[in-house]
Order: sequence, then structure tokens, then C-alpha cells
Amino acid sequence: DLALRYAKQRGKNRVERYQQGYDELLRRRGTLTGELRHAIDRDQLHLVFQPVVALPSMRPVGAEALLRWTHPELGRVGPVEFIPVAEESGLINRIGAWVLEQACKQLAEWRAKGHDVWLSVNLSPKELHNSDYAAQVADVLAEYGVPPQRLVLEVTEHAVATDMEELVRRLAELRETGVRIALDDFGAGYSSLTQLRTLPVDILKIDHALVAEPESRTGTAAPLVDVVVRLGHRLGLEVLAEGIGTPAQREIVEEAGCRLGQGSLFGWGVPAEHFESRLLSLRSSATRPAPAPRSSP
Ligand code: C2E
Ligand code: MG
Ligand code: MG
Ligand code: MG
Repeated sequence: DLALRYAKQRGKNRVERYQQGYDELLRRRGTLTGELRHAIDRDQLHLVFQPVVALPSMRPVGAEALLRWTHPELGRVGPVEFIPVAEESGLINRIGAWVLEQACKQLAEWRAKGHDVWLSVNLSPKELHNSDYAAQVADVLAEYGVPPQRLVLEVTEHAVATDMEELVRRLAELRETGVRIALDDFGAGYSSLTQLRTLPVDILKIDHALVAEPESRTGTAAPLVDVVVRLGHRLGLEVLAEGIGTPAQREIVEEAGCRLGQGSLFGWGVPAEHFESRLLSLRSSATRPAPAPRSSP
């Protein structure tokens, strides 16, 4: 009857729409893979640098390098979309090597100008499958004369879901070169507390999802931030809260005892040529050590 025919038609449309959506996704992936292959040679990639500040002074101490891709026809493609494409196609090794080299070059340039910041670079777990990755890192550091302690490599929590033994071995090798390791996106839902204890890391980055929710101290986020900061410190790690976007969020993080912060409140990522002025303005607005109490007249 009519109702049944209608229902069938609707179901069919839905399947077709689903199929269309899927086809489109595949097509987009195919395009991105093809185009990403040439992105380096065609000069379409660049890094932006987001400041990391000490809390509560808000003095800038470092930066995170974030990759950007601008394609002449496709426009800006975000890393959340193209990094997985790079990983699946194997292009991540070349792209990661490019990122590492650009980052070290930039770090050397800032150091030459007297800016003593550390720089953090995101690492795909796929890059760690490469058994001489640590040697490559050491080579690039040496080439640009960057002290290894000034480089931080961030592995995302997602990496933890893969082969733990291999991950621990590779991270240990990396640490032997003197670089520091950060566990990124902690609290986003992948790694367990046991894994945190097992992984050789130096810095714990609290995912912005944990930081972002609270506008009030009565919310659930403040106690979670409290516990994670304490956990990190008890494990001897530095703790950095990312995605701090409001003064209220900064307060919650500070009250939890977190000493490092990152987020739009202190500035989004900017290209290298704008980063220096960012540094200078953050430096001039950072709170000075409290002045000695004035004696009454
Ligand atoms: P991530 O490493 O956790 O980087 C932090 C992300 O949060 C960045 O997004 C940054 O722009 C964004 N962010 C910064 N401040 C705020 C804030 O106050 N609020 C909110 N809501 N977000 C903020 P982006 O640049 O889109 O990067 C996304 C992810 O892509 C990164 O997450 C990282 O996992 C990956 N990625 C970026 N660059 C690279 C790279 O060179 N190599 C690899 N393997 N992955 C990269
Ligand atoms: Mg990161
Ligand atoms: Mg993160
Ligand atoms: Mg993230």
C-alpha cells in the first residue's frame, strides 16, 4: 500500500544519500592524497607557532608548532583532516621530517636573536615505527645547533592505543638524545593511568576538552583538572593545560597548581614572522614579581 511504498522509498533514499556521502568522502580523500603529495614541493605548507606561558605570571616560555596547508583551489585544509590522510598514505614521514626541520631552523633563528624559548612539535605515531627516527632527530638538532632540551616532541594519547612496547622503546631512545617528550591530549579518553605510568614522558598536556567546559567552579571540570594536575606532579611530570580560552579557565587551572598554559587567551598560532612581536607583547604584559610593600607616608 501507499504507506509501505513511501517507507521503502524513504529507506532507499537514505541508503542512496549515505552512499553519496561515502562516495564524496572517498573522492575528497583521494584528492587530498594526490595533492598532499606535492604540497611540500609547491610550498603550500607552513607552520604557525602558538605561545606557551608560565602560570601564573603568563611569561612566555615556549611555543607549539602547528602545521598549516593552504591549497590554491581547495583553500585551507586543517590538520585534523589532512594528518590522517598523510598517515594512511605514508606521506607522514616526509611531512614530519619537513616539520621537524622547519621547527629546528626556526628555533635556531630565535635563539640567535636571544629568545630562549622551547619549541614543541607534534609527532605522528606512524613516524615512531621508523627505527632510526631518534637518529634523525639527533641529526637535525646537530645540523641547526639546537640544544636537545629545547625541543619537545608531542605524542598524542591516540598513539598509546598502538603497540605499547614499541612506543616505550622508541620514546626511550628519543629521550636519550636529550629531547623532552610530552603526552598530548591527556584526558581525551584513550590512555589509561597504567599506561601513563609506563610511558617515558616529561610533560603531561591536559586536553582542552577537560579545560574548556568550566565557567564555574561548581562544574565537574575543576575537580578533574585538579586531579590530573596533581597526578602529573606526583609522577614527577610537568603539567601543561591546553585550550585555555577565558580568564575563568585560567583561574581554575592556576588554582589546581598547573604551571604551564596554552590557548587562545594567550594567543592562537601565528606565522613565524609575527611570533616575535607576540613574544614581546606577552613579555611586557606578564606580571612582574610582586613589588615590595610600600611603606606608608
Ligand atoms: P594538538 O597538538 O592538541 O594541538 C592543539 C590544537 O588546539 C590546535 O589545533 C590549536 O590551534 C588548537 N587550539 C589552541 N588554542 C585553543 C583554544 O584556546 N581553544 C580551542 N578550542 N582550541 C585551541 P590545530 O592546529 O587545528 O591542530 C589540530 C591537531 O592536528 C593537533 O592537536 C595535532 O594533533 C595535529 N597536528 C598539528 N600539526 C601537526 C604536525 O605538524 N604533525 C602532526 N603529526 N600532527 C599535527
Ligand atoms: Mg600538540
Ligand atoms: Mg593537544
Ligand atoms: Mg588535540
